[in-house]
Amino acid sequence: MTDYIPKEAFVLKSGKYVGTSLDQLMFVDCTHILYLLNVYKDDSSQKSQLYKHLIWLSEQATTRQITAICPHCNENTMKYFALISDRKSNYKTGLRQTCCANDTCQNKLKKSLYLSNEYYFRILAMEFDSMLNVRHKKARDEISKLLKRIFGLPKKLTRELAFNFFAQ
Ligand SMILES: [Zn+2]
Repeated sequence: MTDYIPKEAFVLKSGKYVGTSLDQLMFVDCTHILYLLNVYKDDSSQKSQLYKHLIWLSEQATTRQITAICPHCNENTMKYFALISDRKSNYKTGLRQTCCANDTCQNKLKKSLYLSNEYYFRILAMEFDSMLNVRHKKARDEISKLLKRIFGLPKKLTRELAFNFFAQ
């Protein structure tokens, strides 16, 4: 746990994502968050605000509450989603391609995918870390889009909205 509680977004002042806030970056390219964490991990700048904000953000990301309901039982909150791909590495997912923690619902999701001839898919947890478990940027972008919808965020996230989402 950290006792660092930021009052505003941390905006990157240099590098590939200059002008983007760390909070926005969670949705834009969360592999870069991991990269920055590694870069600053063993650094004497550990006490820097950048590093503190990264640690804070990683912790906040794991505690965001999902209130969206499973489309199969209409009862429990969503827990997983299916990341569907084709042979050309096109990816898609969506609100219908989700389920709760219940096995019955997960089986219903799989069955619905087979019925619509979707044979290539992975069931992933509805969390930010899932973006780190896929190799293709296009796949991560699809997951990011889904997370925004699940959390009721707009497609274009301002610094303020992104910060408020993680700070709440
Ligand atoms: Zn369910």
